[in-house]
Amino acid sequence: MQSLDKDPQGNGNSGSRYSFIRVGVTTNIEGIGLEKAGIKTEKSKVVVDDFYQTSVPGIFAIGDIVHGPALAHVASAEGIICVEKLQTWMFIRWIMEIFRLAPILTRK
Ligand SMILES: Cc1cc2nc3c(=O)[nH]c(=O)nc-3n(C[C@H](O)[C@H](O)[C@H](O)COP(=O)(O)OP(=O)(O)OC[C@H]3O[C@@H](n4cnc5c(N)ncnc54)[C@H](O)[C@@H]3O)c2cc1C
Repeated sequence: MQSLDKDPQGNGNSGSRYSFIRVGVTTNIEGIGLEKAGIKTEKSKVVVDDFYQTSVPGIFAIGDIVHGPALAHVASAEGIICVEKLQTWMFIRWIMEIFRLAPILTRK
């Protein structure tokens, strides 16, 4: 946080009527084992593909820790995209299982 309510020498009140305060937010992904798990990061964000899958298949990331606008409704939309993709995969696997098991189950 930085206040501009000082003169250039850093002394007391600059005499201005207004102060400008800026606040920054950053991710907190260091030291939680991402590197050990093989999950790629870039500039303090987790690297994901278009469906929010990380560099490790089956592990997904959404929200402020991935690149893009850090907003609540963006995080929600990312979650929906991610889960819908997972549902599609599960459905495809389910169909494949039926094709695999059908000949076995219908064998006389
Ligand atoms: C002051 C402020 C105002 C904002 N106003 C708006 C707004 O008006 N509209 C808007 O759309 N967005 C707003 N945002 C942004 C919004 O809050 C975030 O984009 C959103 O919360 C991101 O969701 P998230 O799930 O990625 O992260 P978070 O909501 O931050 O959730 C992360 C969770 O993980 C937990 N966590 C962290 N580290 C660990 C760990 N090591 N182990 C386990 N749990 C952990 C945290 O405690 C937290 O509960 C604002 C943000 C701030 C800071």
